[in-house]
Amino acid sequence: MTFVPFDDRDGTIWCDGFLIPWRDAKLHVLSHGLHYASAVFEGERAYGGMIFRLRAHTERLLQSSRMLGFTIPWSAEEIDAACNAVLRANGLINAYVRPIAWRGSEQLAVAARQTRIHLAIAAWPWPNLFDTRRLKGVTLGIANWKRPSPETAPTASKAAGLYMIGTLAKHEAEEAGFDDALMYDWRGFVAEATGANIFLVMDGVLHTPTPEGFLDGITRRTLMDLARRRQIRVVERAIPPEELANASEVLLAGTAAEVTPVRRIGAYSYVPGQITETLRQDYEALVRLPAGEMTHRAA
Ligand code: PMP
Repeated sequence: MTFVPFDDRDGTIWCDGFLIPWRDAKLHVLSHGLHYASAVFEGERAYGGMIFRLRAHTERLLQSSRMLGFTIPWSAEEIDAACNAVLRANGLINAYVRPIAWRGSEQLAVAARQTRIHLAIAAWPWPNLFDTRRLKGVTLGIANWKRPSPETAPTASKAAGLYMIGTLAKHEAEEAGFDDALMYDWRGFVAEATGANIFLVMDGVLHTPTPEGFLDGITRRTLMDLARRRQIRVVERAIPPEELANASEVLLAGTAAEVTPVRRIGAYSYVPGQITETLRQDYEALVRLPAGEMTHRAA
């Protein structure tokens, strides 16, 4: 696989209030965010020139920063406008949008309350997290790493530091031949994949873990609404791993993953079915509606 490095691309990045050339969007190596993971970010998708649920992502970014004890010096309106400005500046219609906020380099020790808070926003074309593998369904290996307890880390935030475990889990899964990892939580219940939430279909009912110890995804909440509109019952609860044997369909939901069918978890196999396909189609239709609002009626 060939990669175009992210620091060597053409384009424009919004950085602390200015649209600057892509290659100039650099930070100092002695930045607190790099050394101590004092950084929070978002992952958004634009469809047809509109960022789906933009305000919800911006609110979560602001909330994540508060959970890490810092305040982003921009309002939600300003951040929304900056995200849209980045799309336009890069001539993007369908794209992934990545805002990130971090503590700067004024102080480099654990305590860093006097650091300046930076915000940058980039956007690039990214069709799907699992590319064409998504079509036939992805495979998940069971991770050895666990999602931590909310008493151990600010697990409801989209904090950069929480992705350290995700990267370790995903690398381990890929080395074993899987597409991604399924992570359990600190208690041993099913939690999520490394960048998407999980849903299991059992007897026509959609089950998903209660978001304790991991992100309550915007796509997750959207899919629960879409399912209810289709009269599909949705149950949020702690799911023990033994129940993976009882699922007829499994799917992942996330901004980057969108709705992705799962065809294998460890030794268990699944056949993507009617509920997965219905939700995938409903999601695809919804994200392309103006303002992403559910003004349509489910058939
Ligand atoms: N969990 C993790 C670890 C993620 O990175 C993401 C993607 N942001 C999600 C779940 C799904 O969240 P969302 O639907 O808001 O993108």
